[in-house]
Amino acid sequence: MQYISSRGQCAPVTAAEAICLGLAPDGGLFIPEIIPTWPYSWAELAAMDYPQTAAKVMKLFLDDYSEEELNQMTRAAYNTHNFSSKEIAPTVKLTDHCYLLELFHGPTAAFKDMALQIMPYLLVKAVEKRGQKQEVVILTATSGDTGKAALEGFKDVPGVKIIVFYPHGGVSPMQERQMNTTTGENTFVVSVKGNFDHCQTAVKNIFGDPQMNVWLAERGKQFSSANSINWGRLMPQIAYYFWTYASLMRQGQIKAGDKINIVVPTGNFGNILAAWYAGQMGLPVRKFICASNQNKVLTDVIQTGVYDRRREFYQTSSPSMDILVSSNFERFLFAVSGYDSAKIASWFAALKQNGVFTIDEALQKKFQNWLEAGFADEAKTAATIQRHYAQNGYVLDPHTAVGVAVYEEYQKTSGDSTPTIIASTASPFKFSHSVLQALGKEVPQGEEAQLEALAQAAHKPVPDSLAQAQHMPILHNTVVEVEGMAQIVKDILSR
Ligand SMILES: *Cc1c(COP(=O)(O)O)cnc(C)c1O
Repeated sequence: MQYISSRGQCAPVTAAEAICLGLAPDGGLFIPEIIPTWPYSWAELAAMDYPQTAAKVMKLFLDDYSEEELNQMTRAAYNTHNFSSKEIAPTVKLTDHCYLLELFHGPTAAFKDMALQIMPYLLVKAVEKRGQKQEVVILTATSGDTGKAALEGFKDVPGVKIIVFYPHGGVSPMQERQMNTTTGENTFVVSVKGNFDHCQTAVKNIFGDPQMNVWLAERGKQFSSANSINWGRLMPQIAYYFWTYASLMRQGQIKAGDKINIVVPTGNFGNILAAWYAGQMGLPVRKFICASNQNKVLTDVIQTGVYDRRREFYQTSSPSMDILVSSNFERFLFAVSGYDSAKIASWFAALKQNGVFTIDEALQKKFQNWLEAGFADEAKTAATIQRHYAQNGYVLDPHTAVGVAVYEEYQKTSGDSTPTIIASTASPFKFSHSVLQALGKEVPQGEEAQLEALAQAAHKPVPDSLAQAQHMPILHNTVVEVEGMAQIVKDILSR
């Protein structure tokens, strides 16, 4: 299968090449030329375990990898050594017709682990398949969770260096501590005086800078990305939507072939795009619901067709969704437009230059029937956390709470009682300060005390990795201006 760029200015590549490169050389994003159809029956799906499900899904997109290779990789990634749940990603009932897909049982307690535990295997194999001798330098911009998940996934992987950029003061204290305590000879963490959009744009510019690429090539190195702009990061996420469907069948909540809704709290549009791919492959989905926090650029574009990033940027209690330039929306528009790269290139050039573009009506019509969008502000998010705790003792993290709030609003106005899966993207312990506040509990001084207080309220233990981070030395403390990012990359790679 070939992968093509959304900007249409470079030749198609193999899956292995798409994974090695990350971003397409013309600044676009790679997507598969055709979307494969899920070839197994729902009964067969229900009989698979998580590693099998993931290997089957990935094989459909990665025809240059063998089934045996993929089975080995998924067994090495998705097991109880790395994940604290035997099911890897359990589906639990929240209320009538409404289920949470818990994606946070991996080593860093957020859903990014679902992809970043497997992605290093995919990348190392891709390098091998291309017969490539260069060292791979992973450049990653993070709004908080990707950074640590990528550091854990790529730490001490031979032939790879990883540099993570995060917004200074723009991530939760726990997220910052998790990143800055990372061990490993090949890991580098840099705090940037800007927000996530600044970090992501600068990383994309470094990728696209011809001089930088010459400088790298002379040193036997090549860039790649662990952000969801890399197909190798996005594609493994498709698997858990098949998995949650199978879980609902096994629990007797749905019958084979029944439709479900999928709600995803969204930032870079990666996780919801993975859900959409699952639907295109044949998973029976009625509605996809895109949930935003106060930075609701996606709600607006889905409802009105106007993508306008010229607006105030809010720091919220769901920092991993504080994003105004949502990269994977480009992939979505490219796919839904029937691969109209000229249109996509002109819209995203306009977004870069003027901060705004308008989707034509014909294209809007193509998604308005099955794509819904809504947002929750800070007060509503906190109230949602508090209410579900009071009603059934379940503690939602702020990102998941945004998804739940948007679903409840949708459910109320539509009366739709289709069984609904909400992607639960993080453990509440990653955001204990905001969560305790939302619960109306006293917030003690110090992170460790906050973790303890939340453990008592939730009647759940603190995830091991978060407890351990409290006692590890800070190993990374570099801070740079946005303008200094390219230079620090050179400095790090010259060491
Ligand atoms: C990254 C992240 C999101 C947003 O996911 P996208 O794929 O960027 O839309 C939501 N919640 C949490 C906890 C995250 O870490």
